[in-house]
Amino acid sequence: MLKNLLENKNCFKLVCGAGNEDAAEVEKLVTLYAKAGCRFFDLSAKEEIVDAAKKGVANAGVQDACFCVSLGIKGDPHVSKAQIDYEKCIGCGKCDEICPQRAIKYHKVKRERCIGCGKCFKVCTKGAVSFCSENIDLNTVLPPLIKKGIDCIELHAIGADEEDILSKWETINSLYNGILSICIGRGNISDRTLVNRVKKMLAGRSPYTTIIQADGFPMSGGSDDYKTTLQAVAMAEIIQNENLPVYILLSGGTNSKTAELCRMCSINYNGIAVGSYARKIVRAEIDRDDFLTNKAVFETALVKAAALVKSVY
Ligand code: SF4
Ligand code: SF4
Repeated sequence: MLKNLLENKNCFKLVCGAGNEDAAEVEKLVTLYAKAGCRFFDLSAKEEIVDAAKKGVANAGVQDACFCVSLGIKGDPHVSKAQIDYEKCIGCGKCDEICPQRAIKYHKVKRERCIGCGKCFKVCTKGAVSFCSENIDLNTVLPPLIKKGIDCIELHAIGADEEDILSKWETINSLYNGILSICIGRGNISDRTLVNRVKKMLAGRSPYTTIIQADGFPMSGGSDDYKTTLQAVAMAEIIQNENLPVYILLSGGTNSKTAELCRMCSINYNGIAVGSYARKIVRAEIDRDDFLTNKAVFETALVKAAALVKSVY
């Protein structure tokens, strides 16, 4: 099923957020985007989040959805959580205002909603925000998720600690023989290091069983312009130029302009993963308690979500 989506070269992947552990929000997002035509969902590697996503596709009456769980290494912002030092915090509220996830209320971080985007850190003039992340044990986390029924496992291979990344990749390969995804970008490494890392990770894998998720401007904040999506397209070009037997997805700064820019730049992509922008355009509706029961509210969000999904085709 996932292979067909990728081969058809029009795969829209909704990124709920590798660190988004808010099951209620994930159910709402998946219900909405499944109704809007999305068939591939990127989720935090938690059993309750996969359950919530499955509930979402059932709400939408969709049978053929695919699920990917995302994993990061310790220190990866995608799986990091903000924390506030109350010795330094003066309660100015700037972090509450800027948080795209509404994860900070009354200067307290709701860990399950935080996606590690770093916006609160940037606005805090008192240096009160820092981040923490855990080293997860893949041998404990993955088997129940695989048993539950997933279609893809994604490793964020973005950090500088290549040894840790390759060791986690080996473990994932030993536990799962389905499609794997490597999410990689240029934040910490050179283009050459990046390509060499991808090649090392592909050694031993069968052709066209791996997605390279070209991550441009991770957790961009969701602006809808060419500039924001430019880095994702540039990253996709680096991968494309290597002629590897992989599927190429774009992510990080992706928006309604990404597919158009890909076409303008002759990028032969298999799909586009959209996170920040996809969530931002429906934030006002999703945050309502009656989102799933209020038809008018749901329809308002659906028009926006469907237009975004369509922009990829
Ligand atoms: S921005 Fe910094 S000082 Fe202001 S409320 Fe947030 S943590 Fe506290
Ligand atoms: S602004 Fe980003 S990093 Fe800070 S609490 Fe919100 S989601 Fe987490």
